[in-house]
Amino acid sequence: MSTAERLSSFGESVFATWSRVAIENDAINLGQGFPDFAAPDFIKEAAIKAIRDDENQYSRSAGHPKLVEAIAQTFEIETNPLDEVTVTCGSTETIAATILGLVNAGDEVIVIEPFYDSYLACLKMAGANVNIVTLHAPTFTLDETELRNAFSDNTKMIIVNTPHNPTGRVLSKEELGLIAELAIRHDAIVLADEVYDKLVLTGNHIPIATLPNMKERTITLRSLGKVFSVTGWKIGWAVAPPHLTEGIRSAHQFLTFCAATPLQVAAAEALLAPEEYFNSYTAEYTERRDVLVEGLKSAGFQVQSPEGTYFVLADHTPFGFDDDIAFCHHLAKECKVVGIPPTAFYAQSDEGQQYVRFAFCKGVETLKNAVERLQTLRDGVGV
Ligand code: GLN
Repeated sequence: MSTAERLSSFGESVFATWSRVAIENDAINLGQGFPDFAAPDFIKEAAIKAIRDDENQYSRSAGHPKLVEAIAQTFEIETNPLDEVTVTCGSTETIAATILGLVNAGDEVIVIEPFYDSYLACLKMAGANVNIVTLHAPTFTLDETELRNAFSDNTKMIIVNTPHNPTGRVLSKEELGLIAELAIRHDAIVLADEVYDKLVLTGNHIPIATLPNMKERTITLRSLGKVFSVTGWKIGWAVAPPHLTEGIRSAHQFLTFCAATPLQVAAAEALLAPEEYFNSYTAEYTERRDVLVEGLKSAGFQVQSPEGTYFVLADHTPFGFDDDIAFCHHLAKECKVVGIPPTAFYAQSDEGQQYVRFAFCKGVETLKNAVERLQTLRDGVGV
């Protein structure tokens, strides 16, 4: 008995590997993106109340009516909750359901690297042909010629992630406009992974579905876990026109059928939280980002402050390591800090080797401790 061929090349998810390394080394885990601080009381109370109210059986497969209503109400475009919203067990399931529900074996799909690791695994499960376009270091902007060359009339889908994990970039109006122009010209679907939409710390996030003629070809992914510090609740959703929603739901009903009902009821309440919640959320994340970025700079890394997400890519080349994996092992062992080696997010270019990804969804004290531990790095190399 052995792993099916379609998955055997992927091995263990990089997040599982490095969270384990963090535990083994008793290190501060700035690898996998999950908060180390408490979720807000109001969302926890809402979930407890939903369980007490006996919202404990399967929900409607495509999402509890209260949650799909709240999603439609807070989405940027007028949306019919019953025909255009699908709630899943986290955005990782939305990605799987969208790809398995809409992509046929042999279809061409464009993926922009560095990418979230599950895209490629799901595309392989669907039997898709993948065409990679690289966001080149150090600016990680989209190269117009490379994107134009990647598109053809065989392109079925392009996966676009903004705000972008792991670079922290928020794609510009021009970059999104180019993607939209090419998707329309070649009649391609856009899978817009916008799970960090509420984590824009500098600049503006433009949902690609709001660009002219894009709503009808865009699937927008959003997530509860990042905004309300409940990544373990695994609640995500897709907003898409009915003809695309049909495929997503076909897959979703056989993958998980529905997400956890009481958590969906609590999510509905959370999404309608007052504006102040979201304002203080971004203010707190701005502080966390600045503490980490300044600390990384003082430790000797070359860093650009991320515009969005809760990740930062730091260039470790001043410390003289061969690649990202060697550097991350050294970091875990000697400094007791874990980061993610970004080559896991690349399939084509080796530009990830010079970086390490750190997550700053951690309390300011945790970040300050981590930064202090990193100060010893330069001792080893005399930077
Ligand atoms: N999105 C998270 C990250 O990039 C990980 C999610 C997961 O582990 N499934 O760190």
